[in-house]
Amino acid sequence: MMTEKLYDKDAYQTEFTAKVISCSLSSGTQRQYDVVLDRTLFFPEEGGQTPDRGTVDGTQVTDVQIRDGVIIHRMAAPLAAGSEVHGRIDWQHRFYNMQQHSGEHVFSGIVHQKFGYDNVGFHLSDDIVTMDYNGTLSAEQLLEVERQANQAICENISIMISWPSEEELEAITYRSKKEIEGQVRIVTIPGYDVCACCAPHVRKTGEIGLLKVVSRQNYKGGVRVSIWCGLRAMQLYDQEHTMVSELAASLSTSADQIPAVFKKQQDEICKLKQKLQKAQAQRMEQQLEEIPPQQKNVFLQVEGVDARTIRDSVNRLTAAHPGYCGIFSGNEADGYQYVIGSADADAGMAGELLKERFGAKGGGSARMIQGQLHGAAWEDLQEVLSQL
Ligand SMILES: [Zn+2]
Repeated sequence: MMTEKLYDKDAYQTEFTAKVISCSLSSGTQRQYDVVLDRTLFFPEEGGQTPDRGTVDGTQVTDVQIRDGVIIHRMAAPLAAGSEVHGRIDWQHRFYNMQQHSGEHVFSGIVHQKFGYDNVGFHLSDDIVTMDYNGTLSAEQLLEVERQANQAICENISIMISWPSEEELEAITYRSKKEIEGQVRIVTIPGYDVCACCAPHVRKTGEIGLLKVVSRQNYKGGVRVSIWCGLRAMQLYDQEHTMVSELAASLSTSADQIPAVFKKQQDEICKLKQKLQKAQAQRMEQQLEEIPPQQKNVFLQVEGVDARTIRDSVNRLTAAHPGYCGIFSGNEADGYQYVIGSADADAGMAGELLKERFGAKGGGSARMIQGQLHGAAWEDLQEVLSQL
């Protein structure tokens, strides 16, 4: 026997009584029961939407599924078959979902009217509301659809639910027109959308409150659009407003000045980095000048010098000193990037020694190698390099 769907007739009802048709241990789970009632207010997981939450006789309903018209409530405690039970759905959760779902109809209806695209993948959960359209939409086009959707919300239009006969249905143009077995439920938002849908909706578009597009990404040749409606959109606004206010306070500016202050700080960081690099390169120059001429095997530790300057310096060293010449940029905590060259020996030998002793990674030619290593103190490195 198919379950009577009480939510179909009145999406605002929150409590109901029903008779337990059956109760059995769920397969594959421990101490969970599958309960079938003669009628229910619990909307199951269907059409991309996650199920209602709530209780039956005080026990939490953890999942709701539908199979061949039979709605199955998963519960942590059994209910006696034949008994009369009292159910209650989590109204806040349901109303949030109604706001999101009705918002999706308004939005997809406008996309369909303006661009002819369909929503071919809809997901509504506590974390996301996404629509996959089978055509691309630019950020500007989405902004225009968002503006029109909010206009439809302000117009506070009545949302109508109907069950047309087969003949009536053939004459209607609606979204999601496909072969559906049995009675088709049509949700109409006059002027904006007509769509076959099984989910609970708000009575009037004004109850959607507001609709905000939160992201857009290219997806399977079309576009995936993420939105928030109503109280969830308000929560998002709250979070972002708090974030912006805190950021403005920490920058000692007003919210509208954040981009300008941020840009100024970025420029300053860039200039400081350049200055620092210059100072570090000068310090390295000094170190190079202090090396006695003709010294064999020269190894230096520096910090923050760019790779190109290091390579050039190693080239200068190998031209003036016999044996191995290497520069290690970094320190024990952060690890080292190194370049080692030689005019008269095989630089690869130095690389092999560092790999063997410190697990260094890198490579190069007999003339010059480069690589990186971690976890070695400079004194230990010098000790090992002195074996070359
Ligand atoms: Zn729908």
